[in-house]
Amino acid sequence: MQLRAVLFDVGDTLWHAPRPPRPAEFRKKAADRARAFLRDLGIPCPDPEVLARAAWDAMEDAMRAARSTDRVEPDYASVARAAAAAHGVSLSHSQAAALMEAIYISGGEGGKAAFPDARDTLLELRSRGFRLGIVTNRAFGGERFRSDLRELGLDIGWDAVAVSVEVGFLKPHPALFEHALAALELSPAEALMVGNSLAEDVSGAQVLGLATAWKRSRPDAEGVTPDFTFDQVSELLRWPPLKEAAR
Ligand SMILES: [Mg+2]
Repeated sequence: MQLRAVLFDVGDTLWHAPRPPRPAEFRKKAADRARAFLRDLGIPCPDPEVLARAAWDAMEDAMRAARSTDRVEPDYASVARAAAAAHGVSLSHSQAAALMEAIYISGGEGGKAAFPDARDTLLELRSRGFRLGIVTNRAFGGERFRSDLRELGLDIGWDAVAVSVEVGFLKPHPALFEHALAALELSPAEALMVGNSLAEDVSGAQVLGLATAWKRSRPDAEGVTPDFTFDQVSELLRWPPLKEAAR
């Protein structure tokens, strides 16, 4: 195995939420933000809390449906817009997108923290000559995701970042892995995919021929065998194929 790059899932692989705010707290923050957002735009809404909840639930339902069918990313602003309309609130497409951004509670505020050994492991892999990429399923990309990475100390100068909502496909769809490989100008056999989902990360990458490392989690697929299984991110550094990058 001649590896030149390591691709990482993010959620529960590089960061997790060890102390998430209680659901009621999340809902209150989202409601407060929805209320302020709608007030600033002068859009009447009888119950911003109900609206925020409905838009968020609709987004999650759409993502779940896409994950279990064609893995094509839904247009979440359209989904939120329809949910708002069902509650009698008329939003444009861009207003619906902005509402979702407004009520999204992420990063440290969302209780997220990087695994303690994640940053040092990434830096050590880089110093061994590996190029590093992200392959992640998320409904929010753009600057928000980059600033969450910065806040959690995971802004290590990624060589490739493939975010499902930006690329248009969800793991395990091959297009998301291919997007990262194309950015790195590498073939699948030259890359390792690291993630905590057997179904999305390991199986998805294996279909294309990438090597795989699984951060042990509750298994979400049967009959999937990664090349390497670990508990702590830093264990990757002791796996022989990651001793140093192929030239
Ligand atoms: Mg994950």
